[in-house]
Amino acid sequence: MSSIKQNIEQVITQITSAAEKCGRATDSVQLLAVSKTKPIAAIDEAITAGHRAFGENYVQEGVEKVQHFANSPYADQLVWHFIGPIQSNKTRLIAEHFDWVHSIDRAKIARRLSEQRPTELPPLNVLLQVNTSNEESKSGVSFAELPALADDIASMPNLVLRGLMSIPQQADSYDSQYAAFKSLADAQQQLRAKHPQLDTLSMGMSGDMEAAIAAGSTIVRIGTAIFGARDYT
Ligand SMILES: *Cc1c(COP(=O)(O)O)cnc(C)c1O
Repeated sequence: MSSIKQNIEQVITQITSAAEKCGRATDSVQLLAVSKTKPIAAIDEAITAGHRAFGENYVQEGVEKVQHFANSPYADQLVWHFIGPIQSNKTRLIAEHFDWVHSIDRAKIARRLSEQRPTELPPLNVLLQVNTSNEESKSGVSFAELPALADDIASMPNLVLRGLMSIPQQADSYDSQYAAFKSLADAQQQLRAKHPQLDTLSMGMSGDMEAAIAAGSTIVRIGTAIFGARDYT
């Protein structure tokens, strides 16, 4: 069985080769280790291996982990990303404990996060989740509604709008994966005319990382390939 350290090294090798293949700087793509459902010990192992950025989906679980590692010698270097669905009664915990939020698709949630962000912390970095496949059931703002939402959120005092995120419908072919990611990158490019600070595209997971990087991803979110399969029982 391979260790978390070896898994991280392998994923970084994949990221590096995908970046080189399309002529991008290898340090222009960040690895976010998605640690949802995984124990403190697994995160500890990743930290010991030199990893610093972690993604969590569930508020209660994520906050417990952030609090646990607040006492670690690496606390100042750790960066916590909230990437799961957000209910409005949970925004305060997110605003108080996380550095980034990837999953914003409504102004109401963003407004609460801005109001509840403690003033002693730096502004919260936020990404707007876009529904690139236009599926009725999926969360995410549509391309049509994106510009107005971006304008609204960019004006909120305790948030910094950094970019876009998507979880596209699963596609087997490279070309269809690439097309979905490229549509997100193009939308970001258009928003930059008004919001030049946008510099982050959170897109790509284990199965579609190469297409995401070719389309301009700056953060890939990887869970299983680092920590192994999740057990929800
Ligand atoms: C769980 C999750 C991931 C990681 O998925 P894996 O298949 O385990 O790599 C990435 N992004 C989001 C939004 C997730 O919820």
